[in-house]
Amino acid sequence: MEKVADIYIEYTAMAVDQSYLYKVNQYNVEKGMRVYIMFAGRKIVGIIDRVYEMPKTELDALPYKVQAIDSVIDEDVLLNEEAFHLARFMANRCVASVMSCFQAMLPSKLKPKSTKQNIRKEVYVIYQQDKEVKGQKQKEALAYLQEHPKIKRQDFNKRYSCLQRFIELGIVVLQEEEKQAEVEQINLACDHFKLQEAQQQALDKIKAIAGHHVHLLHGVTGSGKTEIFLQLASEVLAQGKQVLILVPEIGLTAQMVERVTCRFGKSVAIYHSNLNNQQKYEQYKLVKEKKVQIVVGTRSSVFMPFEQLGLIVLDEEHDASYKQDSQPRYHCRDLAIERARYHDCPIVLASATPSLESYARAYKGNYQLLELKERIHKNMPVVHVVDMKESMKHDHDALLSVSLKNAIYERLEKNEQVILLLNRRGYTPVLRCLDCGEVKKCPHCDIALNYHKQTNRLVCHYCEYHEPAYFVCSSCGSKNISTSGFGTQRLEEYLDELFPQARVVRMDQDTMRRKDMHEVVLREFEQHKYDILVGTQMIAKGLDIPNVTLVGIVNADASLQREDFRSVEVTFDLLVQASGRSGRGDKIGEVIMQAYQKEHYAIRCAQNQDYDTFFKKEMQFRHLGKYPPYTYLASLIFTNDKVDQIYQDIDTCFEVFDYPNVHHLRAVQLQKRKDTLRVRKILKCANLDELIASVHFIKNELLKNKCKSKLEIDINPLFLE
Ligand code: ADP
Ligand code: ZN
Ligand code: ZN
Repeated sequence: MEKVADIYIEYTAMAVDQSYLYKVNQYNVEKGMRVYIMFAGRKIVGIIDRVYEMPKTELDALPYKVQAIDSVIDEDVLLNEEAFHLARFMANRCVASVMSCFQAMLPSKLKPKSTKQNIRKEVYVIYQQDKEVKGQKQKEALAYLQEHPKIKRQDFNKRYSCLQRFIELGIVVLQEEEKQAEVEQINLACDHFKLQEAQQQALDKIKAIAGHHVHLLHGVTGSGKTEIFLQLASEVLAQGKQVLILVPEIGLTAQMVERVTCRFGKSVAIYHSNLNNQQKYEQYKLVKEKKVQIVVGTRSSVFMPFEQLGLIVLDEEHDASYKQDSQPRYHCRDLAIERARYHDCPIVLASATPSLESYARAYKGNYQLLELKERIHKNMPVVHVVDMKESMKHDHDALLSVSLKNAIYERLEKNEQVILLLNRRGYTPVLRCLDCGEVKKCPHCDIALNYHKQTNRLVCHYCEYHEPAYFVCSSCGSKNISTSGFGTQRLEEYLDELFPQARVVRMDQDTMRRKDMHEVVLREFEQHKYDILVGTQMIAKGLDIPNVTLVGIVNADASLQREDFRSVEVTFDLLVQASGRSGRGDKIGEVIMQAYQKEHYAIRCAQNQDYDTFFKKEMQFRHLGKYPPYTYLASLIFTNDKVDQIYQDIDTCFEVFDYPNVHHLRAVQLQKRKDTLRVRKILKCANLDELIASVHFIKNELLKNKCKSKLEIDINPLFLE
């Protein structure tokens, strides 16, 4: 018998998803450890899958020579059973290789292709034994060591200069250890409220279901959702289990981190994209070594190495940042639910504007629906919608209506603060008639056509429909057509002109290049160093500033006409979230939305904070167009440097495509990226498993036929460019 192992390899040039057989020799390896192996003449990293005995005869009978492992990287198991389960689940769901999933799951310093070398070490001075020493200083040092038998070398050297001498005498030895994350003790006063009746009922309903279940907690901002899951968390912790709280971008959810850390003190790890690789590694280790019981973090914290999860919370569950934007394109929600299932524990999805997918499942009873109808402090903001078509007739100002200008002026007079939001998605160039608001749509898809400036054409991104662009409105004949939105920078300059006395600050992708700028600007705004905050989407979420009594949404409906089936949902979410920023304190807040399509249900429902009506209307639209949640989509983007080659490869794969329930739309050429040509096929199916199977099929055909085109796969894409 010979000990062998199946090993997943890092060799990413090959998209094939299989493990390779190696001899283990003298090494003591286990499933989930990383090793070095020789593969095709290169030394690469592999992950051990299965270790087992194989008869020598069988081994010798193999048509190739089985090599031995080169060396072992990990002393302990890096990936446990659950990690393998999750990687395989993810590989299937995303139609990706298992190794690429491990790659996505691990923090940089532990990724299969790196080694432990770059992990920062700390050197300690360890006291061993008493010896005769000379001189006052050395005696002091010895006494100090007897009191502090283990101290950092740099700390010792700061005090005394006799380290070398002590080592020679055998008084101390040096010991190298991995740098540990400092777990801070935070002592803030925290509120711990007695739950209100509606909150208590929701909490009781969650607790009433033992084991795994998905709960959808739906309630307007300020209705007390966070308080519910924090209390649930403390009960779970009391049972000795761990808690994962997932949040969208951390910069904007600093308040969540503060609330959680202040309540649970030093048992919290925080994990987000602003940490450097060393910090991420340290936080990861804290969880692995069970030094913390709670993690608050963004998307990739779903991979934290918990062993005893008792609760997962996905806050703002509808948020687009939960979707990974490179391969493998997983959705954090899917993986979180799978982990909760694995640990047989509840998962709470919380949002004021749940994704249609989640709400539809709750509506059908697959998830438990929990609704909070009112704010804790019963002061909902007053929402006005300004008809920009009307406004433009009186005052030729396409940026700010008279009502909004007056309202801003009033707040400045009262020394209160204002948030002005520009809908970034409005920049997608569409042709809009400034007189009647009409936007040119695709005749086949009921979705706005994209304006391509280079070719002066209007193009549909769903089907291949296109037409020349004419700057005349097809509905009212006006020649007053605009091609795009307007920028935050222009708005900022305009505000400076209108309100020279006001202190204006701008927050968008341009001004926020540096990662911590968010927090700085937000803190200064909170301290009232500015009167008006101008920004894009990024200011709509999470902000809780009591002195903000006016939120203006400059182009509320700009994102309605995006060439995407989710555009209405995205608009509604944005408006509701942004409205939630007004009147968080004692003062009643006001929201002014400026829109050309005042009567659109996204605007009206947002104005009334009426999710139910929005949901019903939007589900009708999705039903008619056979869009999610009625179907599942897959986006397959074929890339190559020759477009003929791409179409040829697509033909090769789809000629033999035999999945009658999977509807595939005609191939559409996308804009090229980095000189690579891209052609997309969209697949639609009412059954997710069937859809996934068909995508696996296409991927295999591509490999089998040795096609030159590469394939980028996105199952359940959030947006289609
Ligand atoms: P959400 O997560 O739905 O936005 P929060 O849990 O943040 O709501 O609650 C909104 C505000 O009400 C917060 O300031 C919170 O401290 C406060 N709050 C929550 N629950 C209670 C309660 N039971 N009693 C008093 N205040 C509460
Ligand atoms: Zn018109
Ligand atoms: Zn179309």
